[in-house]
Amino acid sequence: MTASIPNPKSPIQKPKSIELLFLGTGPAMGLNGRTTSCYLLRINERRILIDCGPAIIQQLHETGVAPHQIDDVCFTHAHADHALGYPMLMLWRLFKAPAGVGLPRIIASEAVLTALDGVMQHALAGEVELTKAAPRVALPTSAPASLPFDAEITLRTWPMAHSPYAPTLGLRFEIGAPPEQKIIAFTGDTGPCDNVIPLAQDADLLVHEATFSARLKPELAGGAFGHSTAQIAGRHAAAARVKRLALVHLDVKEEGQESLFIEEAAAEYAGPVSAPFAGVLFTIQG
Ligand SMILES: [Zn+2]
Ligand SMILES: [Zn+2]
Repeated sequence: MTASIPNPKSPIQKPKSIELLFLGTGPAMGLNGRTTSCYLLRINERRILIDCGPAIIQQLHETGVAPHQIDDVCFTHAHADHALGYPMLMLWRLFKAPAGVGLPRIIASEAVLTALDGVMQHALAGEVELTKAAPRVALPTSAPASLPFDAEITLRTWPMAHSPYAPTLGLRFEIGAPPEQKIIAFTGDTGPCDNVIPLAQDADLLVHEATFSARLKPELAGGAFGHSTAQIAGRHAAAARVKRLALVHLDVKEEGQESLFIEEAAAEYAGPVSAPFAGVLFTIQG
């Protein structure tokens, strides 16, 4: 959080209010209090959902946010723990949202959009055409891309190194203009990947997956199965000079093991490191 003295020569600007709510921070089959990883980013009045796992309706309910209050849904990739809540989110929007509330905008790669239509066809075939009417933006999976949301918010994406069957995009939200610009970056699922550095460069917060701990599983120290260790997350955070690092997608086997993941990342990265549970709220004031 930063305080600034208004410049009397510049037009009065409404301060940006930026909040990131962690809805879940576990891996695909997370236990020990960690449901699947997804997040709600609020920038002023706009609410952006990042990924949409199977428990999305319950995750939102737990934090007091109604599904119809979401404006945009961004998908990192199509794996079950990140996308299988889509039919339920759309079902809510179709049948439980107040009259006049439309469908959210869907932002994802073409591969994910095709997969989502397949999931809807399987789960709620009668509603496929209706949900296809939601506004959509297709992003490339093989090259960086940029998508302006409005005058204040730009989403930039980079391909991550996760799975040949599930192309994955890292998401970088740039809010406002330099030098007051705020940046929040999400890796989604990834192993070691050079693209994390531009994705996260100088970010105020990097939300990085750390499925494994190199201390608990030294044999996975280089990353495995398209996933990272906390050590890799720490190295990425240091190389990108981020201001804070949040570890997510943790495969925690026993209560309290989070501290091992945090210590492991902190050995590589000098800034603040956390491993948030669902319900944790980060506030960044622009
Ligand atoms: Zn995952
Ligand atoms: Zn995945």
